[in-house]
Amino acid sequence: MLQFKNYARPETVEEAYELLRKGRMNRVLGGGVWLRLQERRISTVIDLSACGLDKIEETEDSFVIGSMVTLHQLETHAAFNDATCHVFEHAVRDIVGTQMRNCATVGGSVFGRFGFSDVLTALLALDCEVELVGAGVVSLATFASMPYERDILTHVIVHKHDYAANYQAVRRSATDFPVLNVCAARWDGWHVAVGARPTRARLLEGERLSLPAEFTPEQLDAACDRLAELPVGSNMRGSERYRRHLARELGRRAIRQAAGLEPVSPDPAAPAPRTVCAGHASAASAGVETANDPAPTQAPKGGDPACS
Ligand SMILES: Cc1cc2nc3c(=O)[nH]c(=O)nc-3n(C[C@H](O)[C@H](O)[C@H](O)COP(=O)(O)OP(=O)(O)OC[C@H]3O[C@@H](n4cnc5c(N)ncnc54)[C@H](O)[C@@H]3O)c2cc1C
Repeated sequence: MLQFKNYARPETVEEAYELLRKGRMNRVLGGGVWLRLQERRISTVIDLSACGLDKIEETEDSFVIGSMVTLHQLETHAAFNDATCHVFEHAVRDIVGTQMRNCATVGGSVFGRFGFSDVLTALLALDCEVELVGAGVVSLATFASMPYERDILTHVIVHKHDYAANYQAVRRSATDFPVLNVCAARWDGWHVAVGARPTRARLLEGERLSLPAEFTPEQLDAACDRLAELPVGSNMRGSERYRRHLARELGRRAIRQAAGLEPVSPDPAAPAPRTVCAGHASAASAGVETANDPAPTQAPKGGDPACS
């Protein structure tokens, strides 16, 4: 059971940061959805809900998203979703249910850098930065590979471009963690994030992806091979071999759909079906081989990486 010795609700992030740094066992509270699953004793829990971080501000060239904005707030923000080809909306639609997405925050989801994250994969392919009290402003790609520090994430900044983007994921059943997910976005060239590997999402772009804005089928094949070469592992949801296959095929599908070379399916604004999500291809509809490992769908396992 999770236990707090003290509860603090500071009104500024500076005060929150000071409290966080005061004790090794102090922790930040976002939505508390993940934290509450932990078996640990926290000395002082620092609730950020009074720090004014629950707004999405649109500027001329970006969307500035406060860390306490909920997943549901962002997935229903019309201007943000229209500007980013609905990838976020599509990525989070199978995260348990609306009630939970009304509690889980963007800050907690990004700071957690969970190996299964749909949120991280979707944002990573966009031109995105995070603002931290401590480390300052860093690109999300840099943050995604940084070790856990005792910083406070205050904002996620998504810069505007004329994005062409698409999100794909395979789940064994609706609302389960993804077996693998991919987000492809074209802005100053192609940027493709592969997540649920089942470790933190990785981004391929520039020379490491080597995919021109307008590409031939051979160039796309070669880029998809590079996605399949990313390190992946096995767990109860999928084998390493299956994940390599998904990285290649979901990558191809995401890039082709983003480029308008095949129809986007389904409409991300359509209500999510209650059974296997049509928005996230089933193994059969993805034309992929079947995973050869057992298929139990379990409650999330593993400790809170940010607390370890
Ligand atoms: C049953 C279940 C299923 C899920 N399925 C999925 C899924 O399929 N795909 C997916 O992407 N996600 C999934 N999630 C994760 C979920 O979407 C959220 O990412 C998660 O709950 C964390 O958000 P939170 O706001 O609740 O963070 P919290 O639980 O409050 O915090 C998580 C961690 O981040 C730290 N933290 C929180 N906010 C900040 C901040 N502003 N600055 C610094 N540190 C901070 C906390 O100290 C803690 O270590 C699932 C979660 C659950 C419980």
